[in-house]
Amino acid sequence: MLETHLVAPGSRVDLAGSPTRANDFHDDREAAEREFRDLRDELADLQHALYAESKRKVLVVLQAMDAGGKDSTIRKVFKGVNPQGVRVTSFKVPSSEELAHDFLWRIHKAAPRTGMIGVFNRSHYEDVLVVRVDRIVPEEVWRPRYDMINDFEQLLAANGTTVLKFFLHISRDEQKERFQDRLDRPEKHWKFSRGDLDKRQQWHDYMAAYEDALSRCSTAVAPWWVIPADQKWYRNLTIARVLVGTMRKMEIRFPTPEDGLEDVTID
Ligand code: AMP
Ligand code: MG
Repeated sequence: MLETHLVAPGSRVDLAGSPTRANDFHDDREAAEREFRDLRDELADLQHALYAESKRKVLVVLQAMDAGGKDSTIRKVFKGVNPQGVRVTSFKVPSSEELAHDFLWRIHKAAPRTGMIGVFNRSHYEDVLVVRVDRIVPEEVWRPRYDMINDFEQLLAANGTTVLKFFLHISRDEQKERFQDRLDRPEKHWKFSRGDLDKRQQWHDYMAAYEDALSRCSTAVAPWWVIPADQKWYRNLTIARVLVGTMRKMEIRFPTPEDGLEDVTID
């Protein structure tokens, strides 16, 4: 049941009580992978239609703890989609120019234009996550941001953006294994930074910050999904199901062609 992963607007998220492993639908790996590939093909078609229609946009927000699988989700789920129709933006530590503006400035600039799927690898939520946990700004600055974020997402939605937000939920044990893998494999060393271990030490503070963000900012127009993400196949399949299911409901139409095309001859 997909809906079990949806954060109902107004409800309180309990991450310790939310599974990081799936146990609710098929454990048949092969069937899951087959379904995933079919959904990926359908996503390519839907994106093609979105681009042709050129009226609306889709925004996918990905958040997770380090090694939560944001990069690999993007690689796997959007493989096969025309690169012209997707724009991925990864939000890093803000530059001095970005810091000289309000926290949504860089985010708004990266929001997808008509016909596009925008994917955010991290997002404006960092401004109520790392910024809160590391006390980068005082509470009176970050606390009002939940409402600001809801207003901002409402603005995007009112302007034709379908917003979907996914928290890739991994266990602390799974993170340990993935970090160890990054340390064991030279070709993965670049993905490891000592700072990641500091954040691991702050796991509980992060979970509390995530719970507030997910609870306060899951709205009808911009819902949060908490995806069990210890198993990559389940994570990919679930995200593809939500994304494709949502885009199907958008009833995207190819634009009406010019009149009389059947009479056109090319010499
Ligand atoms: P990575 O995603 O591994 O490339 O790391 C990007 C880093 O940028 C992470 O440590 C984030 O916490 C950090 N980051 C992203 N947005 C912000 C922000 N608004 N303020 C402070 N740090 C941020
Ligand atoms: Mg990292």
